[in-house]
Amino acid sequence: MSELDKTLGLDANITRRDLLHDAGLMSLALGLASPSSASYSNNPVSTADYPPTRTGLRGSHPGSYEAAHAYARDGVPQKKPDATKESFDLVVVGGGISGLAAAYYYQHQFGQHQKILILDNHDDFGGHAKRNEFHQGGRMQLAIGGTHNLEYWQFNDTVNALIQDLGIDIDKLRRQTEFNYGRTGVNGRAIWFDAETFGIDRLITGCSLNGPPSASPLPYLDQFPISEAAKAQLRQFYGRTEDVLADLSDDDRSVYLHNTGYFEFLSSKAGLGEEARSLFGNACHGSWGLETQCLSVAEALGEGLPGLQLLGETPTESDWDYPAGFFPDGNASLARLLVQRLIPSVAPGVNPDNIAIAAFNYSELDKASHSVRVRLQSTVTHVENRGNGVYLSYTRGGKVHAVHARHCVMACYHSILPYICPSLSETQKVAQSYQVKYPLLLTNVLIRSRAPFTALGVDGVSCPGRMHGSLFLASGIETGGHQQGLADPGSVPVTFWGSLSPEAGVTDLRDQLRSSREKMLHLRFEDYEREVRSVLQNLLGPAGFRAARDILAITVNRWPHGYSHEYLDLWDEDWPQGEAPHEVARQRFGNITFANADAGASAYTHTAIEQAARAVGELG
Ligand SMILES: Cc1cc2nc3c(=O)[nH]c(=O)nc-3n(C[C@H](O)[C@H](O)[C@H](O)COP(=O)(O)OP(=O)(O)OC[C@H]3O[C@@H](n4cnc5c(N)ncnc54)[C@H](O)[C@@H]3O)c2cc1C
Repeated sequence: MSELDKTLGLDANITRRDLLHDAGLMSLALGLASPSSASYSNNPVSTADYPPTRTGLRGSHPGSYEAAHAYARDGVPQKKPDATKESFDLVVVGGGISGLAAAYYYQHQFGQHQKILILDNHDDFGGHAKRNEFHQGGRMQLAIGGTHNLEYWQFNDTVNALIQDLGIDIDKLRRQTEFNYGRTGVNGRAIWFDAETFGIDRLITGCSLNGPPSASPLPYLDQFPISEAAKAQLRQFYGRTEDVLADLSDDDRSVYLHNTGYFEFLSSKAGLGEEARSLFGNACHGSWGLETQCLSVAEALGEGLPGLQLLGETPTESDWDYPAGFFPDGNASLARLLVQRLIPSVAPGVNPDNIAIAAFNYSELDKASHSVRVRLQSTVTHVENRGNGVYLSYTRGGKVHAVHARHCVMACYHSILPYICPSLSETQKVAQSYQVKYPLLLTNVLIRSRAPFTALGVDGVSCPGRMHGSLFLASGIETGGHQQGLADPGSVPVTFWGSLSPEAGVTDLRDQLRSSREKMLHLRFEDYEREVRSVLQNLLGPAGFRAARDILAITVNRWPHGYSHEYLDLWDEDWPQGEAPHEVARQRFGNITFANADAGASAYTHTAIEQAARAVGELG
């Protein structure tokens, strides 16, 4: 190990799994969830096996995807399954929000006593709705490992009905939330230029490259460690107000905005050279999972990137409001409420006011005495219609098992479906393969205290030169019983949010996404660890932070199959209604129907729910 790695603390014993780190985790062993201050306890849980407490590589964690990759990518022949011993009314493939919601709707449609089995390849339920629990630093800290927001203003009646039935009060969630990705924290936002990329470490507080008018970088451009030419271009760009498309008709204007790349616009209409443009390169890694240059002008401006001032418009502060509903573990709380509804004994007495601090008893998930069973670490490898039902094979612990069902809802990624359901038509398979998801990375780092952030006057930082495009303090979500306000002085998770840039020279969008996905899977935990340690050390070091001392835990949530592919201006056709790939991909196939957010070509939790309702409705 290099001296630098030692200074950064890469030899620190923080990441070893399944250890009782301290009293926090010990109390979990005794059945107490050791919340911040409120107390709530239910079932005793086994500490070593409690999936949300696992650190290290999470998301697509080792052990979750190898079986699928072996047969889908490498063509390894599947073993013969054992004789079919189990039979259910419904088998759901995929235990994400969509799969859990499918079980919920099936019970509503066919009756509470229907026998349902949910199979998922991960060691925890929820899919992208991933809970990261930390017990270092004296109390339970929660962080969001995947899907964050409830975008309630987009909910339709179906989704609203489910949210209400689970007892979730969005207004209350909003009242109990101050968190806003570091944008409106106690301190504020900043841009961090790192020495490796820009020759010098420099934190510039009070501004953002893509924020509201009050955070304009214009007054700070002199401090940017970039060439004088690039500064002058940016000064012009942020300072100019005119309509550079004034000579276009409304129709031509719309065509321009949707058919022109944002970087092309920055170059030809805003006068930014490559150096200035590159500052925006990873700005959409978190929100889209792709390079900013893949977006059209309309998409980029809709995302909050600068440029409206060159279209004769005046951006307002409220354009950047994002008043979503949050739980401190994101939509993992929604997944947990669904699981609790389906299998009440996993956490008796749980409701939206204590869901975030409740300990779940995972040994209740897969019991023959329950009408709904959730079976984890089970990768489905084959599904076919036979007679009046569906036969499935899945691998678990190196063995192949068979199961029979009257109905099956496939709530897994669509790109795997052609391999699992070989008897589908070629047309449907091609449509399903069209879904190449956007890779996402969410790395949560528990630090001893927020003091260094406070000393520097920041809550959220964008990092134009780094692997993760942004980072923010994950606190200020006091919902679900969890308490950690923005000003809480104790240990706090820092969330690094982003994706990975593809290999240079890859131009096609889907190839870029695949390249990024491969990089994500090939990087080792140490690579991610070195990155976040050196960012925190160099960013916070001037405020007394020492990575080797002040980092308590690291959880890397990598999502090589992240956001569902939403159609993009520059890369996708405008298909007639009913002919878009996701509409062809989700057509009922015998007793098999298709859910997942992929079925709606929209990367939202409410889409996952809507598609579950549709998929179950088709079985009626
Ligand atoms: C980092 C991140 C942040 C996000 N943030 C938001 C947000 O803030 N708001 C929002 O609305 N949406 C967000 N999303 C989108 C999110 O994808 C949806 O909200 C929703 O959670 C998707 O649910 P799903 O059930 O359709 O898919 P998933 O959550 O992907 O669940 C599908 C499950 O099927 C499993 N599976 C796949 N193949 C097999 C197989 N062969 N056998 C068994 N199981 C299999 C998968 O591993 C997975 O567990 C985010 C996504 C990511 C990755």
